[in-house]
Amino acid sequence: MRWRPSGSIQVEDRRGAGGGGGLGGLGMGGLGGGGIPIPVGGGIGGIVLLIIIVVVLNLFGGGGTVPSGGLQGAPGGAIASLDPKDNELQFVNAVTVDVQTFWGEQFSATGKDYPETVTVLFTDQYQSGCGVASSSTGPFYCPNDQKVYLDTAFFDELSNRFGAPGDFAQAYVIAHEFGHHVQDALGTMDQVATQQQSDPNSANELSIRLELQADCYAGVWAHSVWASPDQANVESITDADVKEAIDAAAAVGDDRIQEQATGTIDKESWTHGSAAQRSTWFTNGFHGGTTDSCDTFAASTL
Ligand SMILES: [Zn+2]
Repeated sequence: MRWRPSGSIQVEDRRGAGGGGGLGGLGMGGLGGGGIPIPVGGGIGGIVLLIIIVVVLNLFGGGGTVPSGGLQGAPGGAIASLDPKDNELQFVNAVTVDVQTFWGEQFSATGKDYPETVTVLFTDQYQSGCGVASSSTGPFYCPNDQKVYLDTAFFDELSNRFGAPGDFAQAYVIAHEFGHHVQDALGTMDQVATQQQSDPNSANELSIRLELQADCYAGVWAHSVWASPDQANVESITDADVKEAIDAAAAVGDDRIQEQATGTIDKESWTHGSAAQRSTWFTNGFHGGTTDSCDTFAASTL
């Protein structure tokens, strides 16, 4: 993957800032690769249920309506400039800018405003609008403050623990989380939450469809890089990069994660989809190149 730093700043640097506060709920729209609550003896179902409840609370509780009009920059958290030697921050910023530029163009093509937001980079733990984010939470999107949260240690974990190294594997993770932001902006996230509330039995399946759509959206963005090299901050990708993303999508499949964490696979508790489903939907988006390829809610088989 070839990329160049961006002059636009769409990251909040909270590395080393600490979090404070009590235990919070998990954020909505996580990648699925983090968290890994490693319960022994079949506790995953309970945790998944808890997450769903927290998600519903996040979406409906406490007047937590998302501010309209979008978040331009990061009030209070904006940084004036990025250290040119800080490769990690430059990389995350460049991918964030590229992904958001792409979605901004897609939205305006259909007469919609894309609500630009930021990626919050943190270490250890940080207070997000959806509770305390910790390094065990994994990357996630928080609909309450409309920000993407990323613990820098996750990239190491992706490489070392999940066996999915590479810069485009990392870019996929960021693009997946912004896929959730797109779903939020389009109202998909609210619709799913409403359906989950009225039919709790279908909550996991709806969650899987939402997650696979975010994977597909990441693929649609990857297509844009492939199809128009040198157009933006992520300048070009190769076959090997695309394979990195597909492998990363598979690596954070529910079956892989469960197998690694507990040695058993419990399909009923899945919330993100299997390795095969996740890599398939990323690929669908990559080949299709438009969101039309990403209607996971209409798909009869996932
Ligand atoms: Zn997700």
